[in-house]
Amino acid sequence: MAIRLGNNCENCDNLMSNNMCKEHGVMVGSNYTCDKFEMKANLITDRDCNTCLRYEKEDCANPTKAAPGMMCSVWAPLSARA
Ligand code: SF4
Ligand code: SF4
Repeated sequence: MAIRLGNNCENCDNLMSNNMCKEHGVMVGSNYTCDKFEMKANLITDRDCNTCLRYEKEDCANPTKAAPGMMCSVWAPLSARA
């Protein structure tokens, strides 16, 4: 099963640069979400082998097919490395 990006304020298109929510006019953070959540467009398009933790690693599920623009069901975000 692919790890998915969280539907939280940090990944929401309504979050402004000062951590204010455009919809609600309050400060929010990664612990919050709401029914108005909208994933930032760049986060949606960024999900491919190029941003996968497993790209060109031994645990890639499809080493012969992996390439920028491709993605499989076990994609994991690079930031999971921490
Ligand atoms: S409170 Fe809702 S609309 Fe505002 S940033 Fe968070 S998820 Fe987005
Ligand atoms: S094929 Fe799957 S596991 Fe391999 S790099 Fe692409 S998304 Fe990651």
